[in-house]
Amino acid sequence: MNTAETISLLIENEDSQSSRSEVVGTADVAAVMKERNDHPMLLAFAIQKSALQYPSPQSWLPVFAQDLKTRKRRGAKRYWRGGHEEFYRKYEKTTEENRCFYELLLPNMWTHLYVDIDADLTFNPGLDTNAVCVEFALRMREFVTKEIGGRHVRFVRLDSGTASRMSVHYIIKLDRACFLNNFHCGAFMRRFQRYVVGDNGNYGAPFFVKTKHNGEVASIFDMAVYTLHRVFRVFGSHKIGSDRILWRTGRKDNTLRRETFLDTLVQYFPSANEIDLVVQVLEWDGSLPKSTSHVWQHLPSPPGHGKIGVSEKKIRRSGGSGRGGRAAAISAPSVVEPGLSSALAKYISQQHGGCSVRETKPMAGVVNVYLNSRECRLRGESHDSNHIYVVVYLRSGEWVQRCHSSYVTCDGKETERKSLPKELAQRCAEAHRKVEENEKNTIIDLKPVFAFLNAENVKPDEVWQSKEVYSAQGVACNA
Ligand SMILES: [Zn+2]
Repeated sequence: MNTAETISLLIENEDSQSSRSEVVGTADVAAVMKERNDHPMLLAFAIQKSALQYPSPQSWLPVFAQDLKTRKRRGAKRYWRGGHEEFYRKYEKTTEENRCFYELLLPNMWTHLYVDIDADLTFNPGLDTNAVCVEFALRMREFVTKEIGGRHVRFVRLDSGTASRMSVHYIIKLDRACFLNNFHCGAFMRRFQRYVVGDNGNYGAPFFVKTKHNGEVASIFDMAVYTLHRVFRVFGSHKIGSDRILWRTGRKDNTLRRETFLDTLVQYFPSANEIDLVVQVLEWDGSLPKSTSHVWQHLPSPPGHGKIGVSEKKIRRSGGSGRGGRAAAISAPSVVEPGLSSALAKYISQQHGGCSVRETKPMAGVVNVYLNSRECRLRGESHDSNHIYVVVYLRSGEWVQRCHSSYVTCDGKETERKSLPKELAQRCAEAHRKVEENEKNTIIDLKPVFAFLNAENVKPDEVWQSKEVYSAQGVACNA
């Protein structure tokens, strides 16, 4: 990967103070983390909006959702807002039957990478859950090293699967690093998926499995979990009406423990001091990270197939939750107009004996043109399996040929730069100027996210405090 791509993939803030203030406004991040963890109150709300508005729409206090057992309304929830420690005291006192809690992921909060893996084993009888997990951890480590650098990666695995269903949650902790928010995790996972699929479109096991929909392919990663205000089940909880509890994998003694509970949260940080890198990730096409449930849009089609798998609509419907539906997508600026992409594809094809073009991918600063040709100019002869591709540098209007072969003449190499015809080069330079303008706004703007929240007075339905009496405001409590 060339330097330009790496820079646009991950914007590492040299000034860590500025990256901190993006998440938490002008407040001191250490104070914010302390308040999140030690806030002495826990308040209950009947609706999510009220919880999110309390005590202000910009609040950093964690929010937890709870499934309620009620005949009135299916999917009824209660929302709890307060300090982590206080929530845990409430949580451990809740009977197992009612322990149906989820962490509600806030867009203004740092986030560990989290992954939801799902597969129906009845349609994939050969699938070995542990082998999938080993392969996943291996490829993820590889990808983190490639994109972020050699940081220690700790995989916290939780499991609520059955004999017929693989269901694994991962909280993935990068040493001293976190993601700016969960949209950035989504952008990272879409890039990871493209990485494991590769240019040759590997849509096989273990990362793609069969679904009950007539054997069609689905991703084992639930790609819809990176949306606005997504809820993610917490350690020791089950869904209402199900007895499948989410526990640490392979532990003999799966009882509630405060340390384990906190360690398995997506947005828990013991203190701000442990973090020296806040990772920000652009989408694979160079656009801003966004809240999206798209399952296939970011993936290349496998050769010889117009489309793969199930349509997105179908996937989303079969997903059933629809929880991401309210997400306010942050619009992505397009990198190059389609007319320029196809003009580049046409020109590059002419330069390679008129071979057909498999795909044209605009990225930040470059356009990649993937060719239906194995004639590699680096090797000087044809590859057996690797197709070649061309990288067009928008700023300079130059292009090079590369391939993904690990062959000694090819690996990490590119041909000498050649110039595009003048008119085409000018259009590229103009497109690049637009990209640079967009990059100035790379820091995610959370205002649209909060636009639907009004800062009106919100009153909790219930106040809970682990201390015996909460008398300061004269509100009864149910400790
Ligand atoms: Zn080659």
